Amino acid sequence: METPQVHNFGAGPCILPKSVMEQAASAVINWNQSGLSILEVSHRSPEFESVVLKTQLLVRELLKVPDDYSVLFLQGGASTQFSMIPQSFLKTKGAYLDTGYFAQKAIKEARFYGDVQIVASSRDRDYTYVPDCDNIHYDADYIHTTSNNTIEGTEIFNFPKLGIPHFCDMSSDIFSRPVNVRDFDLIYAGAQKNMGPAGMTMIIVRNALLKTVDKTLPSMSDYRVFRDNNSLYNTPPVFSIYVSMLNLIWLKDKGGVEGVEQLNIRKANTLYAEIDRNTLFYGLANVAHRSRMNVTFKMKDPSLEREFLDFAAERGVVGIKGYRTVGGFRVSLYNALPLNSVNILVAAMRDFEGLKYS
Ligand code: PLP
Repeated sequence: METPQVHNFGAGPCILPKSVMEQAASAVINWNQSGLSILEVSHRSPEFESVVLKTQLLVRELLKVPDDYSVLFLQGGASTQFSMIPQSFLKTKGAYLDTGYFAQKAIKEARFYGDVQIVASSRDRDYTYVPDCDNIHYDADYIHTTSNNTIEGTEIFNFPKLGIPHFCDMSSDIFSRPVNVRDFDLIYAGAQKNMGPAGMTMIIVRNALLKTVDKTLPSMSDYRVFRDNNSLYNTPPVFSIYVSMLNLIWLKDKGGVEGVEQLNIRKANTLYAEIDRNTLFYGLANVAHRSRMNVTFKMKDPSLEREFLDFAAERGVVGIKGYRTVGGFRVSLYNALPLNSVNILVAAMRDFEGLKYS
């Protein structure tokens, strides 16, 4: 029996192009005709060290990472960074931009290490916008922002320019668009959206920042240990790094982050246009801050939501149910999702409207 075509709009973990999945599957059986699985090759072997190096070089090339920054591969998910950052850099106070669920989690962890200043928050309107934080006086060690709010569906397009170190959680929009790495002192991202399988967290850090760490830290919490051991201090997440390398090769082939950004804009515009046109739906996020990666919307009549989920599922549309605290729908448009899948979803929304008015 033929496998039905599925259009996966899920928020993860790990939405990758089919061709990358196929290469990954083949490497699990027999990597590079070595007779060994990529899962059993020694992580200390020159072959695997060259995978780490190639992945780092691809990151550098695609994001134009300047030479005075290091690219590190850690574990523990982006959530570990919520505490690792203040552990290293919070001396008296950390400034945080409160834009949603994951920003809140970062704030919670920072409080274990010192004072936290919430410089601006969009909590008053259920995190449906990105608050302005340009004209605020900061007397903190750093500012922490979240570039894309995966659950609420907002994204920062104009990053604040501030006079203090800027740390950014880019877990859910890394590699979806160009970023000026120099605007940041530390960028981190769980791999599992646009990079590769869950298990690895990428850090891009300004080397000079690491010189400001003035304390001894447990090795696994110390960025310097990972930099000095080229991300091989302990057993690395081999599969996640390897598949990330395959995926970044795919991305380079697609015209890099500049190329994929154009496609991501088209996908997002197509879906938002239908949300705004269709009389049954409405978008949740402020138009100027609408995320290109995670689109949140609801039905004017919530009692129709279950029926629409089933209607769309008949066309192979899966993963569109909203996060439990938000409800409605959340449609994720990560790099690997083709424009055709968005067209299928939009047609389902249009046809459902037709059905209700027939
Ligand atoms: N930050 C953002 C923006 C996320 O989207 C996520 C997960 O989806 C996290 C942090 C948490 O990442 P992890 O599950 O890798 O700890």
